[in-house]
Amino acid sequence: ALLITDECINCDVCEPQCPNEAIYMGVDFYEIDPAKCTECVGHHDEPQCQVVCPVECIEINPQWKESQDTLMAKYYKLTAAA
Ligand code: SF4
Ligand code: SF4
Repeated sequence: ALLITDECINCDVCEPQCPNEAIYMGVDFYEIDPAKCTECVGHHDEPQCQVVCPVECIEINPQWKESQDTLMAKYYKLTAAA
């Protein structure tokens, strides 16, 4: 999963781009629900939030390093639940 750092300027651009609706407004800036973030695996070739973020404040969540297989399994679980 990816993580939004405190360099986020709350520009709102990433939130609508997330195919998993994993991005939400937190207390001070936007946050990513790691349980819902597949790093866009299953949907796109690259993480859409990282592509659009103007200040490049989105990085790998050190607590949630996942393999491609794990991310794909998460994608299947999320789409099955939807
Ligand atoms: Fe959403 Fe993709 Fe960003 Fe994860 S990497 S928060 S799934 S847009
Ligand atoms: Fe924050 Fe980047 Fe999302 Fe804008 S695109 S709200 S700066 S994380």
